[in-house]
Parts: sequence; structure tokens; C-alpha cells
Amino acid sequence: MDAEIIAVGSELLLGQIANTNGQFLSRQFAEMGINVFYHTVAGDNAGRLKSAIEAAEKRANLIVFTGGLGPTKDDLTKETISKHLGKKLVYDEAALASIKAYFQKTGREMTENNKKQALILEGSEVLPNDHGMAPGMVLDSNGKSYMLLPGPPKEMNPMFVSYGHKSLMGKLDKHEIIESKVLRFFGIGEALLETRIADLLDGQGNPTIAPLASDGEVTLRITAKNESREKCAELIQQAEKSIMERVGKYYYGEGDTSLIKELVKEMTARGLTIASAESLTGGMFQEQLTTIPGAGKIFKGGVVAYSTEVKEKVLKITPETISSHGVVSMECAGEMAVNIRTMMDADVGISFTGVAGPDEQEGKPVGTVFIGISIGDKKPIIERLNLSGSRAQIRMRSVKYGCRFLIRRLKDLI
Ligand code: ATP
Repeated sequence: MDAEIIAVGSELLLGQIANTNGQFLSRQFAEMGINVFYHTVAGDNAGRLKSAIEAAEKRANLIVFTGGLGPTKDDLTKETISKHLGKKLVYDEAALASIKAYFQKTGREMTENNKKQALILEGSEVLPNDHGMAPGMVLDSNGKSYMLLPGPPKEMNPMFVSYGHKSLMGKLDKHEIIESKVLRFFGIGEALLETRIADLLDGQGNPTIAPLASDGEVTLRITAKNESREKCAELIQQAEKSIMERVGKYYYGEGDTSLIKELVKEMTARGLTIASAESLTGGMFQEQLTTIPGAGKIFKGGVVAYSTEVKEKVLKITPETISSHGVVSMECAGEMAVNIRTMMDADVGISFTGVAGPDEQEGKPVGTVFIGISIGDKKPIIERLNLSGSRAQIRMRSVKYGCRFLIRRLKDLI
């Protein structure tokens, strides 16, 4: 089955909202073994929507629409399909009853155009809307299936999962399954990673390996296609093994994770607490840490010591360290990590000091960053980085490197 998803709504074309419905449905279809070759976005315009339908009919046998099922004039998905296929719009009694009940319950006046939402294409299978008023529907016509879903994701997603999925599964004669696994890497650029796995990328077929770089990280999505889920898993496992042999050193997690999430996981598993002292990152580490549910168990607190004065007065960095080595130094990073750990009575102290740019500092070039890690009474470990990129990239990467260094240390510990 080849599907095309047509998202209807001028807001999408104006950039006011992103087409998350297209993304959601594509993921669902991949799981179901339905190919998606095109996503189309059409505005609230009958003529252009009709052209989009005609184009889709040439390349797909399942056309899925989201949006435009509402009560207002610009909601014209049903009307346009009705005219295009020569199918009448008729009232669905169950949908009409539930719309009436909704208005009675909320004490609001029901207008004539609200009734319009209960209209369905004659002969279609109704997909109930458990979270709103407009029902969805599936219509088979001229060897093609047309599925109409509402625009709001909070209505569309559950409707598809509860009713749309089942309806389509019934139409599929062969359940080819597509399984994916995402591997995440940090500390290696996209170009180098691709070079290291060039033989795998060149020789790929099933599974496919797709690299994607963002925010200083590289992800590899391995996708396998087969009728059996077990065979998919086996194909993915083989590819994963080959990838790990080449770039496993930079791997940090799979699927929907991040370095900060992995750090929280490792700290929680060991029952350790952390405190941070931040200069160039300005609190970014603490901010990111606290976005993770469960951070409260491990995070004691932190100090943003941006100025030299605060480093001296609050973090108690010794004047000798600052005068002989400067604030961007191994010595300062080490003292920051140890002092914040003891000050906050935490198991681990982490510090960030460096030159984010655009100007150099203390004769040290932009991108010079020191990250200090103090664990218990052990001597602090300081990592020196020479990062490139913009001010924002240097700061963001410093936090990521901090997480990676600490995760490594924790894994070495136990
Ligand atoms: P309603 O009955 O609420 O009018 P509808 O089926 O007519 O629903 P639209 O009017 O097209 O849908 O869209 C309603 C809202 O749903 C939009 O304002 C937007 O917030 C959201 N929405 C629509 N299409 C998409 C999409 N493709 N991706 C994400 N959100 C969307």
C-alpha cells in the first residue's frame, strides 16, 4: 500500500504551525509497513486541494487527509472530496446525536453549521471522534482508499490509534513491518563518522542506515523491512554490531534519549547527588538537568559564577589561582568543582569555565574550555577542550561534553 498524506490548512502554509500530523501518521504507517512517498500541504482553497488530490491519486492508493473537517466555511475537505468523487454528503446519525448531546451538556447554543460536522461521505466507514465533534471517515472508491481525519492532533492521534489503524490493517493483505532503531553518538563529527562507516553506507540495502547531524551530535537510524518482526530485529542487530565495531567509542544511547537524560540515569542508578559551578555556560547545565523528571533526586544546586569577583567571593577560588593561572584554567576548574561539591554537600561537583567568544580571554583562544569533575575525596579530574563554532555552539557543546565526561567517570567508578 502506498500512502500520501495531505495536510489541509492555510496556517501550515503560513508557517504558523508545523505539520506534526504528517509526522505522526508517517511514523504510524512505517510501523504498519505502509509506504509513504509524499507529504502534501494544501491551503484552505478548494481548487488547489482538488489539484492535490488529483496528483495524489496518480501516485498512491491510500490518500489520507488531516484538517478541514470543522464547522466553518474554510473547512472544505469533505465538500471538495464529495464533489471530486461524486459522492453525496449525508448525516451520520450517531455523530449528529453526539454533537447535540455535547451542546446540551455544555449549555451552549448549537448553530446550523455545527451540524455540518456530522456530515459524512456516503458509503464511508465512520471513525468516531472521542475527543471532539467532527468524526473521521474512510471511503473506498475506484480502487483507492480515502481517509479523512480532523486537524487538531489531540483529536486526530487518538482517532487514528483507536479506529483508523484497525480500519487500514483490515485492508492490508500483507503485513510487511518496518522497524527502526536510532543510535546516538557524541564527540565525533558527521563527516568523520560517515567516513568510518562508509563501507556500510555504500553497501546498504535492507536494513538502511541514515545519518543525521544536529546540535553537535550524530544519530544513525537503522531501518529494516520484513514480514517478521523477529527478522527485522535480527537485521537491525547485525547492522548495529558492524556500526559499533567502527564508531562504538562515541556511542552514548539509543532512541529517544539525550546526554543529560543519560547522566540523570547513571547518577540515579548509583544514588549520587551533584552540584554545579558554571561560568561560560551561565547555568545551562543546571537548566537542562532540571528539565529531566527525577532530577530532584540527584541535583543539589548550583552557582553561576560568571564574574571573577563571584568566583572569589562565592566559590572561594583562591586569589593565587586566579593571579597565577587565570579563571580559564585547569586550576580554577578544579577548585570550582571541589568547592561547589563541598559547599553543597554533594557527591559530585562539576564545573565549566572557558572562552565562549567572540574575543579571546587571558590570552586563551575562543573555544578553550575546562571542565572539572570532583567525585568524593578523589583528586579532581579536569578535561581541556578546544572547541570550534559560534558562541552558542561552544556553550552548548561544553554542557554536552561535561555530561559525557561525567558519564564515563561514573561508568569507570562502578
Ligand atoms: P476543527 O473542528 O477544530 O476546526 P478541523 O478538522 O477543521 O478541526 P482545522 O481547522 O484544519 O481542523 O485545524 C484545527 C487545528 O488543528 C489547527 O488550528 C491546528 O492547531 C491543528 N492542526 C491542523 N492541521 C494540523 C497539522 N497538519 N499538524 C498539526 N496541527 C494541525
